[in-house]
Amino acid sequence: MKKTTLILAGLLLGGVALAPYASAQSKGPIGISMPTKSSMRWIADGDNMVKVFKERGYKADLQFADDDIPNQLAQVENMITKGAKVLVIAAIDGTTLSDVLQKAADKGIKVISYDRLIRGSKNVDYYATFDNFQVGVLQAAYIEKALDLKAGKGPFNIELFGGSADDNNAHFFYNGAMSVLKPYMDKGKLVVRSKQLGMEKVATLRWDGAVAQSRMDNLLSAYYGKDRLDAVLSPYDGLSIGILSSLKGVGYGTPKMPMPIVTGQDAEIPSVKSILNNEQRSTVFKDTRELAKVTANMVDAMLSGKAPVINDTKTYNNGVKVIPSYLLKPVIVDKTNWKEVLVSGSGYYTEAQVK
Ligand code: BGC
Repeated sequence: MKKTTLILAGLLLGGVALAPYASAQSKGPIGISMPTKSSMRWIADGDNMVKVFKERGYKADLQFADDDIPNQLAQVENMITKGAKVLVIAAIDGTTLSDVLQKAADKGIKVISYDRLIRGSKNVDYYATFDNFQVGVLQAAYIEKALDLKAGKGPFNIELFGGSADDNNAHFFYNGAMSVLKPYMDKGKLVVRSKQLGMEKVATLRWDGAVAQSRMDNLLSAYYGKDRLDAVLSPYDGLSIGILSSLKGVGYGTPKMPMPIVTGQDAEIPSVKSILNNEQRSTVFKDTRELAKVTANMVDAMLSGKAPVINDTKTYNNGVKVIPSYLLKPVIVDKTNWKEVLVSGSGYYTEAQVK
């Protein structure tokens, strides 16, 4: 008898002792749907999320959709079928997910809109992102400073590029930038010779660098035969790299013909290298590790019946309702602060990676 009791007690104790291990990565699964692997930023987002979710004991199901909308829909459906508890989605086209999100809602699955706002659906619980309007403000303020516009310098020639029009962020970036640039255009200190203004004219479908490059080729040949282009508003590093090759193609980037001021976003390695090489002039750093943490905090809170921490309840109306959001701060990076922001201050990159 005694022996059996001891064995039982031992088994129980063993069971208790084993419990924490048995529950490691037993929460979830969390479905993570990222738009594409064609940009390093989304690969980093996916990796960082898998890391934090694993650390917190969740199973993570990470999928990339190759910038193909039906692909993303199929991947999300599959996550629902596999019993996801929460879906974390960075949409390719923010308006295409309503049906699949209804299926999720019918099963009680929570949804976090990740970085990009999902539009047109009531079935979005929270939004984790950066201050997207501020991204545009930072890009344009960089041009304002580099051209010394506040001191009344000018007129200068500028051309504008927008992101993919089906990405809600692209409109926030553009509007943020225009809030700074428009007064100078009104005063004639900034001139858009092509007259291509507004997202309907300047958008770049799927954020495709090759599309931006060929639009820049056309703008240069149609409007800048003899005249100098002084600045290009580019909302994303992948576009900036395309724009820069086009500019190099017609001779910019020499002491006689210095590069226009070209902005960017995401601090992708080729662009940081380009900045160090005096080609691209700035980028905007958004720490994807922080965004992953904010998202995991939201998941933890939701799954334990608590209210996630948010810091914005006004800005992001998705057409059906305002989505409670957490906005992180973007940081401008150029040749003067790259080391401090990207290497020593944050450890996001090692110096060797970007040199
Ligand atoms: C993101 C940007 C990124 C762009 C292209 C946007 O939704 O917020 O960080 O540059 O997509 O991938």
